[in-house]
Amino acid sequence: RTAEAVVSPRIAALSPVLLGPPPRDLGPTRPVRRLHLNEGPFPPAPAVITAMRAAAADLHRYPDNDGTDLVAALAARTGVAAERIVLGAGSNELLYGAADVAIEPGDVGLSPAPGFGSYARAVAMRGGRSVGVPVRDDGAVDVVATLAAVTPATRLVFVATPNNPTGGLISAADLDRLVAGLPNHLLLVVDEAYHEFARAAGGPDVIAALARRRGPWIVTRTFSKAYGLAGARIGWGIASSAEIADAFRKVRTTFSVSTVALAGARAALDETAHMERLVASTTAERERLAGALAPHGFRAMPSAANFVMLTTPSPADRLAAALRDENIFVVPMPWRETAGALRVTIGTPEDDDALIAALTAIATDR
Ligand code: PMP
Repeated sequence: RTAEAVVSPRIAALSPVLLGPPPRDLGPTRPVRRLHLNEGPFPPAPAVITAMRAAAADLHRYPDNDGTDLVAALAARTGVAAERIVLGAGSNELLYGAADVAIEPGDVGLSPAPGFGSYARAVAMRGGRSVGVPVRDDGAVDVVATLAAVTPATRLVFVATPNNPTGGLISAADLDRLVAGLPNHLLLVVDEAYHEFARAAGGPDVIAALARRRGPWIVTRTFSKAYGLAGARIGWGIASSAEIADAFRKVRTTFSVSTVALAGARAALDETAHMERLVASTTAERERLAGALAPHGFRAMPSAANFVMLTTPSPADRLAAALRDENIFVVPMPWRETAGALRVTIGTPEDDDALIAALTAIATDR
């Protein structure tokens, strides 16, 4: 049978995920600078790696599908009842799960534009219609525009704070506006993948604000960023009720979170100092990078994440290509009435020095 005969039109219409092979060092003098995926720049704490190695001895067994120990630790840490906490293979599994939970064919899902690609993809995969709500000029999710975009067909609303790729936080006042203005018939997803960085930047308490919402919600978080476990694939969520958490548990792929990921995440929760060092280094580096590039015509959008969006003095896609020749990887994108923008993950001081040197050289050459 031909592919046309078996691939449903809505899957055929999706654009492929083209991440390509991971970029590699080009010899000792040209190490790869992975500033394109918003990962943590440092390996996990030694105790985390030890715990993951020890867990490998049980790999002939299936994992604990409920992640009992980890969920108990997250419940203790957050003060939220364990039955309201759900796990996923990265927070991505929960974002897709939100569409499974809320979307019937024809329903509408709202998400920020630009925004993380999984929101629109998840809605489209379930036969829903995805509608993008432009973010504000400062890069924060536009809560007023989001509320205005809601119709009776809207069943799912994604917001992110900070938003990827723009970096902006939703203010406390806007969170309250969202909670007060959003109808109860739809599921609200607040993506806090960068929660630990946002907290360091003085961001508002999202869970406390959402506690005032009468309708259903989930906040998603991850071990991929501040905990440096992107390769382990483990995320989690806090749902408004045990019933909503149960719905997410129903749609999960059974055993999607591996034994090794569970052990790593559990150990990482005890390595708070390691996580806080990563967050502090990232925060300081973010400000240093923005300050060093400003004189060369790169304008940093306000960011409370481990990345920053820089509008560029010349076409962003050409700058990204020139950086790629130096083995430095960043993400170019259009941005309003500018030459474009680069989304740059904050790296190690050496990574950031390499980026500053390369962009400064390119800008001075012009
Ligand atoms: N949400 C946002 C806003 C992100 O930027 C990312 C990762 N780039 C994710 C979710 C997914 O991360 P993970 O699946 O690794 O938890």
